[in-house]
Amino acid sequence: MPRHKKYVQAAAEMARHSNIQFQHGCVCVHNGKIIAKGYNHHCVPVVEPINETMKRTIHAEIDTCNKVARNLLSHCSIYVVRVNSKGEIVNSQPCARCKEILTRMKVKRVYYSS
Ligand SMILES: [Zn+2]
Repeated sequence: MPRHKKYVQAAAEMARHSNIQFQHGCVCVHNGKIIAKGYNHHCVPVVEPINETMKRTIHAEIDTCNKVARNLLSHCSIYVVRVNSKGEIVNSQPCARCKEILTRMKVKRVYYSS
């Protein structure tokens, strides 16, 4: 699907910025224009984490949607892409938490790489 290609490529580019194991990137599209971008990354902790598993992460979808006015999301599509360690696009799917949040935010369409 050529019309999706530039958005998928932009999301993949964002995913390559991710510094955590599962590298996801995301773009939010409104009227054909990318209005926000995000990627998976560690949050700045309020309290210093004791170990690696205590580090909190923000998922690409949420990082992106947080940059968009809430009432605009129902008119937007988001593209979520995962890349492997070589930077190649691989299958992705929403985690349960993001799925719930995206539904609550009323995002019009959500595409995942496959
Ligand atoms: Zn998620």
